[in-house]
Amino acid sequence: MPTIRQEMINLLSDGECSAQDISQILSIREKDVYPHLSHIAKSLASQKRKLCTVPPACLSCGFEFKTRKRFTRPGRCPRCKSERIREPRYRVD
Ligand SMILES: [Zn+2]
Repeated sequence: MPTIRQEMINLLSDGECSAQDISQILSIREKDVYPHLSHIAKSLASQKRKLCTVPPACLSCGFEFKTRKRFTRPGRCPRCKSERIREPRYRVD
């Protein structure tokens, strides 16, 4: 049986997913997705593959959180203070 991380890599190789998608498809809690993602990012580096993040963005003003290094979703927009934030999405290249 593949490990949860292997399943996550397979899933993200097929297409972009948000943490919420991953948690639903693999039946794990959303907050447990993030530590797995950090681990996957490291293990992929040794296989010359890469975990790519589509940055979260503000739905009100369009601000993109491009410099963000963490995997979790930001709480609010630094520019307009809106809390309507599009979730970051992940894929494996
Ligand atoms: Zn904004």
